[in-house]
Amino acid sequence: MADDSIAVVDLDRCQPDRCNYECANFCPPNRTGKECITVRGEDAETGDPDQVRISEEICLGETCGICVEKCPFDAIEIINLPQELTEEPTHRYNENAFALYGLPVPEPGKVTGILGPNGIGKSTAVNGLAGEMIPNLGDYSDEPSWDAVLERYRGSELQQFINRLIDGEIDIARKPQYVDQIPKQFDGKTRELLEATDERGELDYLVDRLSIRPVMDQPIDSISGGELQRVAIAATLARDADFYFLDEITPYLDVGQRMVAARLIRELAEDEETDRSMLVVEHDLAILDLLADSIHVGYGEPGAFGVITPPKSVRKGINEYLEGYLTNENMRIRPEKITFEEHAPRATTKGMPLVEYPDLEKSYGEGEFSLEVDSGTIYEGEVLGIVGPNGIGKSTLAKMFAGSIDPDEGSLDFELDISYKPQYIEIDQPMRVDSFLSSITDEFGTSYWNTEVAQPLQLERIMEQQLTDLSGGERQRVAIAACLSDESDLYVLDEPSAHLDVEQRVQATTAIRRYAENHDATVLVIDHDIYMIDLLADRLMVFDGEPAQHGHAAMPQEMRAGMNDFLADLDITFRRDERTSRPRINKPGSQKDSTQKRQGEYYYA
Ligand code: ADP
Ligand code: ADP
Ligand code: SF4
Repeated sequence: MADDSIAVVDLDRCQPDRCNYECANFCPPNRTGKECITVRGEDAETGDPDQVRISEEICLGETCGICVEKCPFDAIEIINLPQELTEEPTHRYNENAFALYGLPVPEPGKVTGILGPNGIGKSTAVNGLAGEMIPNLGDYSDEPSWDAVLERYRGSELQQFINRLIDGEIDIARKPQYVDQIPKQFDGKTRELLEATDERGELDYLVDRLSIRPVMDQPIDSISGGELQRVAIAATLARDADFYFLDEITPYLDVGQRMVAARLIRELAEDEETDRSMLVVEHDLAILDLLADSIHVGYGEPGAFGVITPPKSVRKGINEYLEGYLTNENMRIRPEKITFEEHAPRATTKGMPLVEYPDLEKSYGEGEFSLEVDSGTIYEGEVLGIVGPNGIGKSTLAKMFAGSIDPDEGSLDFELDISYKPQYIEIDQPMRVDSFLSSITDEFGTSYWNTEVAQPLQLERIMEQQLTDLSGGERQRVAIAACLSDESDLYVLDEPSAHLDVEQRVQATTAIRRYAENHDATVLVIDHDIYMIDLLADRLMVFDGEPAQHGHAAMPQEMRAGMNDFLADLDITFRRDERTSRPRINKPGSQKDSTQKRQGEYYYA
């Protein structure tokens, strides 16, 4: 076969007792008597006696692809690797398993970012750099050795790091991607978890900066996702390590908290007394841009192969990623660009009013939390972005619209039927994705629903999985689909970006916008990813105040004015990148930052 192709068999999907080896029966080389697709037999290594193996030497490659079509369980992928990819794999888990190409380069004193989809081997690469696994350089049949790895990377920027790794000089601290799992692994109070990590004597400082003191004496399984995220960041940065790996720092954090986390990571990298390297995977591009000194772009076919490019400057890396074309590698990674339009001031909606509400007030208990809402109108067919810190009353307002709580002042003469996707998703029934979604809408499975909902949210491949087996990103996509599929007056999505990669954020944005347009549906989207809000919203409702004490919701306004108010409150200015028009955070105190603040132009400058 074309020696630039790989065959990947997903052993979780391959179920020969239910398909009668359709793949092997139809494979052209097999039909001429060759052993292209064979049965693994009693292979002690896999423990799956009947599954298939595909000979990459004999297979004809992607242009044939007959087995891919024949397999009823989507277990096979045959992929022609890009011609431009000339290097050998860094690691291959096994025969017909995932292949990783390239490795990120941790740099002392620097923050290195990785930008790319989930499932393309970022954790695999980090396991190698942490010394937890020896990369086998593609040869899965032999015992891997560090000598061979060193030989491969001799003379490259990685040589020194690998030398230190072999000498046992690299200690790693990691923050896991899915913080929601922490309570399943740790039973105790926040304080107990954090005190065990205080290797640098900086815990108090981190606890204060990340505002987690109020939850120190609470059991870990009782704190919110946003609190867990900050606890996990503190626990990682409190360690005395040489190499820190943070897999997503932003889910469930508001913009202010994201900025604090980014600053703390930079401070630790820049500490002149030490040589710490930070590696961060992040899908909030405004934060990645601010945080990293350089980035690696990751691309490939999730679950099949992944490539991690050599480092690029942050601006160039993000721009190339958005444009879908990597210049140095001469590689197209996506057919289309992701474009940002300077839609200042975006045309306000012309739909009929869905609701007109008066000034409202609501407080919980004596002196606990109070919310004031300025009167306003929400229109049919608009996507209204909602921005503001956590704990400021956004859900409280949604609940008043739904009629599940009553305001103390002002009255609402409507009760809207609201379809709500909460920030923390709990869909844990033992049920398959397809059964769950078909129980919500009669449109399930129609070509319309498939094009508008299933396809942009990439649900096809996970339809047959159990809800309980889904990853965080998969869960998010199912929850967005469920919310949009439930016929209602108003759709409220709280943080749809959490755990989605950049590509999926853009596709979810498209699904939400199209749904609003085609159904004259009104959608409220609460999110903290400025890129997503910028791409998604027609108008903005800005919340400000003091979280957990008092909140204030302003009247919905057009994007420019809304963004200005929101960013002025945070004291952050954005400019547009000249090449791609994407919003970029100005470095605090820079000339642009000061000029824009003086002019009151926090956003569309
Ligand atoms: P990312 O961190 O980019 O999401 P990972 O490194 O976790 O990606 O995984 C990349 C791919 O490697 C996944 O599709 C997964 O199926 C595969 N993989 C991970 N661990 C193993 C393993 N031990 N054996 C075989 N395949 C694996
Ligand atoms: P957001 O959606 O902006 O994160 P919420 O509306 O959920 O904010 O909550 C605002 C504040 O009100 C928080 O401090 C929260 O703890 C408090 N709160 C929410 N619901 C109740 C309740 N039922 N009783 C008392 N306090 C509440
Ligand atoms: Fe056989 Fe074609 Fe599948 Fe290759 S792609 S294993 S040649 S059926």
